[in-house]
Amino acid sequence: MKVAVVGTGYVGLVTGTCLAQTGVSVVCIDIDQTKIDNLKKGIIPIYEPGLEDLVLSNTKEGRLRFSTKLAQSIQGCEAVFIAVGTPSDEDGSADLKYVLGVAAEIGRSMTNYTVVITKSTVPVGTAQKVKKTIQDELTKRAENIEFDVASNPEFLKEGAAIDDFMKPDRIVIGTESERAEKVLHKIYKPFVLNGHPLIFMNIPSAELTKYAANAMLATRISFMNDIANLCEIVGADINLIRKGIGTDSRIGNKFLYAGAGYGGSCFPKDVKALIKTAKDQKYELTVLKAVEQVNERQKEVIFNKINKHFKNDIKGKKIALWGLSFKPNTDDMREAPSLVLIDKLIKAGCSVSAFDPVAMKEAKHKLGETITYVNHQYDALIDADALVILTEWQVFRMPDFDKIKAMLKNNVIFDGRNIFDNDDMAELGFTYYSIGRISTQR
Ligand code: NAD
Repeated sequence: MKVAVVGTGYVGLVTGTCLAQTGVSVVCIDIDQTKIDNLKKGIIPIYEPGLEDLVLSNTKEGRLRFSTKLAQSIQGCEAVFIAVGTPSDEDGSADLKYVLGVAAEIGRSMTNYTVVITKSTVPVGTAQKVKKTIQDELTKRAENIEFDVASNPEFLKEGAAIDDFMKPDRIVIGTESERAEKVLHKIYKPFVLNGHPLIFMNIPSAELTKYAANAMLATRISFMNDIANLCEIVGADINLIRKGIGTDSRIGNKFLYAGAGYGGSCFPKDVKALIKTAKDQKYELTVLKAVEQVNERQKEVIFNKINKHFKNDIKGKKIALWGLSFKPNTDDMREAPSLVLIDKLIKAGCSVSAFDPVAMKEAKHKLGETITYVNHQYDALIDADALVILTEWQVFRMPDFDKIKAMLKNNVIFDGRNIFDNDDMAELGFTYYSIGRISTQR
């Protein structure tokens, strides 16, 4: 079987690689010539655990190829996945120009029956737009080639993408033809041998399922952050509350961690896009609007704590920052809470010295030389007035506290991910601020 994946980013590269691993012949296509040249040389554009080994072995076996030439690459493919970006437009809606651009190119070049599958996160109605775009191109060519469209949203988590793709909780597929359903069943059969379901549904339901999933997860985070802020006012501890409610089987214990706000390439833009979809239908998603509002506020919580600790006199202070990526095990900096904090600190006249195990290159792209980047986590502490932790990387969980104390000018730590124990920090002699817990004063 031969398939093509268009867009070789987080989703496209993982999808193509995992499909190749089952024996399918895959060509991954991208317009970024450098990315494709590098992939051909075995240079992986993103940090994702386990990905490099799989790319290299499947390329070596000849099952995985890379190209910038869509027209020739899709010839003979039974399925073409569209996995290009769908960034937020100015009004919050998903910008479909890349998806529909690819659809037009497919229509201009296809020569055999193909199932065209949107894997990108796209609003309800997009598959129909893809279908019309392809059909218009075929009409221009006066060709009568059969094709189907399908929606197959992706639920992988950055940082655990390979595992999520190989052993998915479920696979959601929206189709409108039995022929397309058969092709997708064949492609995905190896991934559901664990008994997890392949759920077929109509296309609008599949498109909306992806947004509903991300919106639900974002809601849990904002809900916990909201309660965490109340905890600080009334003297409660959000970690205890998380245990207290997470053990209720109706609630479950996942995605109940309070922190410095959610970020990344998906939650912020997908929440926005879903609100916009509803608005276009003259419906207001009241809960989601609040979710977004709470998150914006939450990204400022650490800055406010720093400001308050230094009695609104932070000009000239040097802040050490551990963790730049929006979550651990990824170098993705899109919408990372660190960006909001850094911007506020710089505007307030502070300097920032930052360390991240893998995201420094990405951070440099976004932030340029506005902050100092150090190659070792402890080097960030040199002459620093305080330490802030914004990503819960494993290497930050059990640091050398004596060294931190010796290096920091003030023994104060702001923890945006609640990774340390309050009692331990008190015993170690730190002033310790976290989220939704009583701060520890020296
Ligand atoms: P990305 O930005 O990492 O990758 C997109 C790729 O598409 C880029 O390499 C870009 O060069 C390429 N591209 C753009 N136009 C193209 C064209 N005309 N032809 C070929 N290639 C083209 O994006 P991503 O994070 O992989 O996300 C892709 C989609 O999947 C988005 O809709 C996103 O919401 C969704 N998604 C992402 C994740 C995630 O964790 N990143 C998870 C689930 C779903």
